[in-house]
Amino acid sequence: MEKRFAKYSTVTKILIIIGLITYIFGPVSPTSSTELVTTQETRFLMDTTVEIRGIGPESARVVEQAFREMERVEQLLSRYIPASEISTINANAGEWVRISQETFGLIEKAVYYSQLSNGSFDFTIGRLVTLWGFGTEDKRIPSEMEIESAVASVNFAKVKLDKENLSIMIPGDTLIDLGGIAKGYAVDQAAKVLRENSINSGLINAGGDILAIGTKPDGTEWRVGVQDPRKSTELLAVLPLKDLSVVTSGDYQRFFVAEGVRFHHIIDPNTGYPANGLTSVTVVAGEAADADALSTAIFVLDAEQGKRLVEDLDNIEAIIVDESGQVWVSSGLVDVIQLI
Ligand code: AMP
Ligand code: MG
Repeated sequence: MEKRFAKYSTVTKILIIIGLITYIFGPVSPTSSTELVTTQETRFLMDTTVEIRGIGPESARVVEQAFREMERVEQLLSRYIPASEISTINANAGEWVRISQETFGLIEKAVYYSQLSNGSFDFTIGRLVTLWGFGTEDKRIPSEMEIESAVASVNFAKVKLDKENLSIMIPGDTLIDLGGIAKGYAVDQAAKVLRENSINSGLINAGGDILAIGTKPDGTEWRVGVQDPRKSTELLAVLPLKDLSVVTSGDYQRFFVAEGVRFHHIIDPNTGYPANGLTSVTVVAGEAADADALSTAIFVLDAEQGKRLVEDLDNIEAIIVDESGQVWVSSGLVDVIQLI
């Protein structure tokens, strides 16, 4: 070994030694890989504005990778992308369709929240969403007959899942729509990319689906504002967050006004009309997919049912605002929330 090493020139030997030191102790320059760099970027994807902030080594590269991951999830789950797995399921309604483990897993979660909320959250809502024109430029009030027919197509219990073969079959007249949970899932996936790449401080905000990674670099918790549903420039409350997600469903996020009435994008599967009674539901959970599904579910439930559901669930907190402007805060948030 020594003899063979002696064969190399002095320059080569020095390079080999530096290489070995770098391998064992990390890069020679002590700051190059551990320096905390802040990267903050905003892009438009999943039909909303997405902001990712990451603080840590190589944050520019990691934030880019997190955006790519969200794009990948959108390509998989959007029903407005013809090649997505959700579009494939919809295009083959009435037949078994084999899908990826990932999509299957998220659909199982959607089924779970559909059951938990007694169908207030129902991912077979697709035809109703289409009818009202959400997801398109063509929003309109449908006729009673159209609504009746679409309501009859909504029933998550009729979706057949075959876990062994990763296959799904939806009824022939049904369309599925993961719009109430997919954004949250995409946020979780972006967070996974950041965490797996040594970003221990960061904030992801996908149009109100927020997830905080760790704390701010100074060690204090992230602070996230909850919007006043009736005053777009004012906050209702501020929440301190550390390794938690907060997601809001509101009637002010996507809507159109016709004949003086606001028609928004969260549909009550029982009536086929936008759910009424509440103006905003904010849910705090460990993962954004859970907070996302629950905020949509609770928005459709009446206030009392929603409050009961939140208090019954472990590690779930919420802020519910009703049409009269009354604000309810769940027991686990009362001591930490800053109401404005
Ligand atoms: P979110 O903004 O998370 O509350 O979700 C609203 C989106 O979920 C809508 O744009 C629809 O795509 C879909 N959606 C609407 N109503 C429901 C419902 N009752 N259950 C499940 N998803 C729904
Ligand atoms: Mg939701």
